[in-house]
Amino acid sequence: MHETDRPGGHAAGTTPTSAGDSTGPVLATLAREPAALRAALEGADAATLLMVLVQFTGAAGLLERARPYISGPLNYHESMPEDLRAEIRDRLTAVLIDYAQGQRPLPPIPEGAMLRAMLSTAAGEDVAEDYTAMMREDLEPAETDPRGMVWREPPAADRLAQFPVVIIGGGMSGLCAAIRLKEAGLPFTIIEKNQAVGGSWYENFYPGCGVDTPNHFYSYSFFLNHDWSHFFAKRDELWAYFEQAADRYGIRDHIRFGTEVISAVWSDQDSDWTLTMRGADGAQSRLRAKAVISAVGVLNRPKLPDIPGRDSFAGTALHTAAWDNDFDWHGKRVGMIGTGASGQQVGPTIAPDVERLTIFQRSPHWVVPNPNYFAEVSDGMKWALANIPYFARWYRFQLFWAFADGLHAALKVDPAWDDGGRSINVTNARHREFMVRYLRGKLGEGSPLIDKVTPGYPPYGKRILIDNNWFDMLKRDNVDLETGRIARIVPDGIETEDGRHIALDALIYATGFQASKVLAPMTITGVGGKDLHEFWGPDDATAYLGTMVPGFPNFFMLMGPNTGLAHGGNVIFITECQVRYILSALREVIETGAEAADVRPEVFADHVAEVDALHAGMVWTHKGLTNWYRNEAGRVFALLPYRLVDYWKMTRTFTPGEYRIT
Ligand code: NAP
Repeated sequence: MHETDRPGGHAAGTTPTSAGDSTGPVLATLAREPAALRAALEGADAATLLMVLVQFTGAAGLLERARPYISGPLNYHESMPEDLRAEIRDRLTAVLIDYAQGQRPLPPIPEGAMLRAMLSTAAGEDVAEDYTAMMREDLEPAETDPRGMVWREPPAADRLAQFPVVIIGGGMSGLCAAIRLKEAGLPFTIIEKNQAVGGSWYENFYPGCGVDTPNHFYSYSFFLNHDWSHFFAKRDELWAYFEQAADRYGIRDHIRFGTEVISAVWSDQDSDWTLTMRGADGAQSRLRAKAVISAVGVLNRPKLPDIPGRDSFAGTALHTAAWDNDFDWHGKRVGMIGTGASGQQVGPTIAPDVERLTIFQRSPHWVVPNPNYFAEVSDGMKWALANIPYFARWYRFQLFWAFADGLHAALKVDPAWDDGGRSINVTNARHREFMVRYLRGKLGEGSPLIDKVTPGYPPYGKRILIDNNWFDMLKRDNVDLETGRIARIVPDGIETEDGRHIALDALIYATGFQASKVLAPMTITGVGGKDLHEFWGPDDATAYLGTMVPGFPNFFMLMGPNTGLAHGGNVIFITECQVRYILSALREVIETGAEAADVRPEVFADHVAEVDALHAGMVWTHKGLTNWYRNEAGRVFALLPYRLVDYWKMTRTFTPGEYRIT
C-alpha cells in the first residue's frame, strides 16, 4: 500500500478530469489530416459512432442495416461486419471534417420515431417511447441542461440569503446537491464527519476496492470524465474524481470537515431547523437552516457478524469498510467471512500473497463476466469521448441500458412461471442459464466447487457481482471455500459446526453494513416533536419518492428509503433525479414567499403502498431468499422497484398539491 491510499492523504494516480462534452481544438486539428482522423475513429466503438453519424446525417437506413448485429449489452459492435464498421467510420470522418471546418452545424437533438429507432439500435433491443424525453435531456448542452435549478422568477438576493441550506455529508450525493445549490445561488453548508470529501470512496480502501458500474455511466451527468483509465475504476481514481468535482465547482469552502451532525430539530415557530454538531475535538456547536438535505449514504456503518467468540480472536481482525493499511496479509493464514461485492474484490486481490485463504460462504452470489472489467480505456476511446460531439452521451445511454433499465425485465415475477424457484421469468431463466454455463466453464465440468457456488435462488435476488477472478481464485491450491456453518470464533481461528478447527492469523469481515438503520445515529425531530426514528420503528424506513416524510418540512433525503439499486443501475443517476426534485421543491417555497413544504400524509402513504405492492412481484421478495434489502418483517426498504426512467419521470416535476406549503 502506498501513502496515498490512506484516508487523509491526497487522492492519487489519475489524469485530470475533463468535464462536459468537448468538441475542441483537437478535432479541428485532425480535420486537416483526414487520414489521422479516420485512424482515430478506429479506437471507438462503431455502434456508438453510428449514433453520432445518424444524428448528423439522418441516415436511418444505416440504423436498419446495423441493427441485426448489435445484439445487446455486452456486444455493441463485435459482430458487425468489418465493411459496415468501415463504412460508418468513413462516412463519419467526412462528416466530422465538414463540422470541424464550419461547413456543417452541430446537429439538432433527434426526436420522435427517429430518436426511438436510434435508442433501440444503440441498445440492441426495442426501447420504449418513454426513453426519448430522458435521452433528449441528456443530449442537451450544459448551458440549457434542465437538471439544475431553473428559476421561473429569479428571487432577489436577500430572499436567497434568507434561505440557508445544510447538507449532511460530503460524499457523492452531498457534493451533487452542493453543486446544484451553488448554481442556484442558494447559501449552503456541508457538514462532513470525515476530513475529506468522497464518502464511501474515501472510507473504503480495502485491497481491490473499485466500482462495478462502468464509470462512463457512474459519473455526474454534468461532469463527465473522458479520461477514466479503466472502464471500471479503482478506489483511488474514483475518490480523485469526487475531489476534483469539489474543486472544480468551488465546494470546499462550504464544508465543515471533521464535524458530525448529532441532531436536527424543527421549530414550528421559526420554520427552520437547528442542527447540533460535534467537532473532532468533541465540542458541540449549532447551526440553523431553512432546509436540510441528508446525504449520509446508506452503506457506511460496518456490520460485524453476531458469531460467538468474535471478540476472542487474537490475530488481526478487520472489516472491509474499516481497513487498516498497516495490515500485511503476505504469508498469513487469512479467513474471510462474506462473499458479497466487498468480498468479491478482496479475495482475489490478496489470494496470490497469502499462505492460505479460507473463505466462509454462507450463501453464494450470482457472478457475471464483463469483458471490460479489467480493461483499460484505449486512447482512441478517450479521444472519441472527448472530441466527437454527442459520442459520450450515446455511449452513456448504451451503458444505462446494459446496466440498468435493460435488466429490469429480469426482476419481475411472472406468476405463470414455475421452475421450482430457480428463476422467476423467462428472461431471468435465460440469465441464470448463462451464468451457470459461465461458472461451470470457469471451474471445469465435474468440479466439486460447482454445487457450492451455484445459487439456489433466482439471479438478481442478491446483488449481481462482476467476476473479479473469483472462480479462478477458488481454483488456487492455497484457497479453500468453506460452506459449512461457523460454530464459533476462537483465539487462533474458527471452529465449524461439524467440529473442524481452522487455524487463522487474520480474519477479514466482508459482512456488509447496517443498512436498515437509516440516518442512524442522528435524531431528527419534526413538527410537534415528532421523532423520525420512532415514526419508522427500528428498521422500517419509508419516504415519499425516497426523499420526504410527512411532519418533517424541508427535510430532504438523498439515497433515502427505496431508492437503492441491486441489479446494476447507477446511484448517481438516482441522486441527480432527487437533487432536481429538491431544487423544484425549494423553488416552489422560495418563489411563492412560503416557508416550508411538508408532504401530505396520504400522498406519502399511497406511494409507500405502491412501492410495497410492486416489490411483492419482484425478485427480492422471493421465498426463502435473504438479502440486506429487507427488514426483519420482510419488507423491502432499500430498493427502488421502478425502472430508472420511471423514477426520472416521477421526480422531474414537483407537484405543489402533494404538499402542505406553509
Ligand atoms: P453484503 O452484500 O451485505 O455481503 C455480506 C456478506 O457477508 C454476504 O455474503 C453474507 O452472507 C455474509 N455474512 C454476513 N453475516 C454473516 C454471518 N454472520 N456469517 C456468515 N456470513 C455472513 O456486503 P458487501 O459485500 O460489503 O456489499 C454491500 C453493498 O455494498 C453491495 O450490495 C453494493 O451495493 C455495495 N458495494 C459495491 C461495491 C462495488 O461497486 N464494487 C463494492 C462493495 C460494496 P449472506 O449472503 O448469506 O447474508
